[in-house]
Amino acid sequence: MTTLQLPTFDDVKAAAQRIEGHAHKTPVITSRTVNEELGAEVFFKAENMQRMGAFKFRGAFNALSRFSEAQRKAGVVAFSSGNHAQAIALSARLLGIPATIVMPHDAPAAKVAATKGYGGQVIIYDRYKEDREQIGRDLAEKHGYTLIPPYDHPDVICGQGTAAKELFEQVGELDAFFVPLGGGGLLSGSALATRALSPNCKLYGVEPEAGNDGQQSFRSGAIVHIETPKTIADGAQTQHLGNYTFPIIQHKVDDILTVSDAELVDCMRFAAQRMKLVIEPTGCLGFAAARQMKSKFAGKRIGVLVSGGNVDIERFCSLLGSC
Ligand SMILES: *Cc1c(COP(=O)(O)O)cnc(C)c1O
Repeated sequence: MTTLQLPTFDDVKAAAQRIEGHAHKTPVITSRTVNEELGAEVFFKAENMQRMGAFKFRGAFNALSRFSEAQRKAGVVAFSSGNHAQAIALSARLLGIPATIVMPHDAPAAKVAATKGYGGQVIIYDRYKEDREQIGRDLAEKHGYTLIPPYDHPDVICGQGTAAKELFEQVGELDAFFVPLGGGGLLSGSALATRALSPNCKLYGVEPEAGNDGQQSFRSGAIVHIETPKTIADGAQTQHLGNYTFPIIQHKVDDILTVSDAELVDCMRFAAQRMKLVIEPTGCLGFAAARQMKSKFAGKRIGVLVSGGNVDIERFCSLLGSC
């Protein structure tokens, strides 16, 4: 087995330069009500306000920016439950690259529509029966497309890490930082930035209870594979961490926590009502964990990465139990 060349914080810095002027520098939101509830100073990095509504634009744009002329001509293929799809489709359109996206049959309608709206060609597969990675690889081989996976790729990881880099530049060092975890692109990139810019900060990845493969992997020391978890956090329905993301997470993250779907819904309601923020279920993972841990961080400075805001308004209402 060849050893992987893991990305470093220098690569995150290079990614930040590549996406500058293309990705939004997202705001940091604070709320007196949240600070009172948690007894701490909480900084929300609002990637729900990123282009296409999630941090994934950062990794996608960074990866596509590095394509050679031949790769640009042939095109890109991606498989995704939604936000990576939109991110690749939008980045590809901005860079003039043809994009093909493999999406699950039960992906939220708004995400499918947005991907098509950005000019991506969409191919649907059955999430519970077919292997999307295989479909993606077959298409890449047949048409000469370059496959950009949603998380296990150095350029994707480093692009995602620019959100945390930005947060520390905006608010300074933190005592604890809570980051949603699916396949680990966001968490591993955040870890590179955190260890460079706020070395003493406790860094937590947060998964849905039903899909705690990351927690199992972190605690056992080897990548654990699970069945596609049933959770409302559709951005974290991943089955395993990646060969790049796992070793970074293992060495640079303090722990992996889990939250229930009910806690996510509570946070969605709270964020909408009190903070005027529309956050998708997966985007609430960090906030939900910070609320669970509040007694531990009284009086401290806490970062929460709000990873995305792409949720159909009908689904949003039905999750909250009314409309
Ligand atoms: C993809 C995604 C995640 C998980 O990111 P990974 O890099 O797969 O860990 C979290 N939140 C949202 C909104 C996402 O789209």
